[in-house]
Amino acid sequence: MVHIVGAGPGDPELITVKGQRLLSEADVVIYAGSLVNEEILRYCKPEAEIYNSAQMMLEEILHVITLAEKAGKTTVRLHTGDPSIYGAVQEQMDAMQARGIEFDVTPGVSSFLAAAAALKQEYTQPGVTQTVIITRRGGRTPVPDSESLKKLAQHQTTLCIFLSVSLLDDIKRDLMSAGFKSSTPVAVVYKASWPGEEKVIKGRLDTIVQQVREANIDRTALIIVGQCLNSENRQKSNLYSPKFSHMFRQAIF
Ligand code: SAH
Repeated sequence: MVHIVGAGPGDPELITVKGQRLLSEADVVIYAGSLVNEEILRYCKPEAEIYNSAQMMLEEILHVITLAEKAGKTTVRLHTGDPSIYGAVQEQMDAMQARGIEFDVTPGVSSFLAAAAALKQEYTQPGVTQTVIITRRGGRTPVPDSESLKKLAQHQTTLCIFLSVSLLDDIKRDLMSAGFKSSTPVAVVYKASWPGEEKVIKGRLDTIVQQVREANIDRTALIIVGQCLNSENRQKSNLYSPKFSHMFRQAIF
């Protein structure tokens, strides 16, 4: 049996209870070493066989899994954050399905959620935006034309941009050409939730490139853009309003 598990964003305490249990029971662990905090491997059995997938190709990963299956062992395939977001997990699941290998998936806390926590920020705000877009800037990996940052930006939602901090200059250009003001708030969160390593940079479209350069951030960071970051826009929600009734509470005015 193979368990695909989301390790969470970095803090070893941000794996789910179920993920931690599966990790502690696994005979074989294949973890995404480029991003998973190795501290999390302390949950593994001392005798567990541990592989870092950063140095492996798809076929090698499948080979390790197939051998473990033949030996009746349990494997955890540990992905960073949540496996469904830029996890390259679909091809692994498809290959396991094709080979008749049984697997399940345990979700994890994605880094865009850890970034909101680091920023003490709600992404969906009344009167500002009710939508969050998760995307990346096209670079070595292309993004379909219909999803270019310029097109997505026109919706003026909260944007969570993955895998792109080295392309911040291009992002700035795209957003300006989509009509964003230079004063648009932008935040960059590096290693969200990693104990002792997290960095939070808050700025504007016209300052953020310089700020991020000065902080020496060139990877493992998320870019958050949108008016949700602007504290001048705040409106109160209906949910806790005295004028608003809902299933659990009557209005008092
Ligand atoms: N599945 C992961 C994302 C993997 S793609 C998730 O759900 O979070 C790798 C990208 O995720 C990085 O380039 C960076 O943009 C982002 N990332 C992963 N962990 C991060 C963290 N702790 N802090 C900030 N960004 C992170």
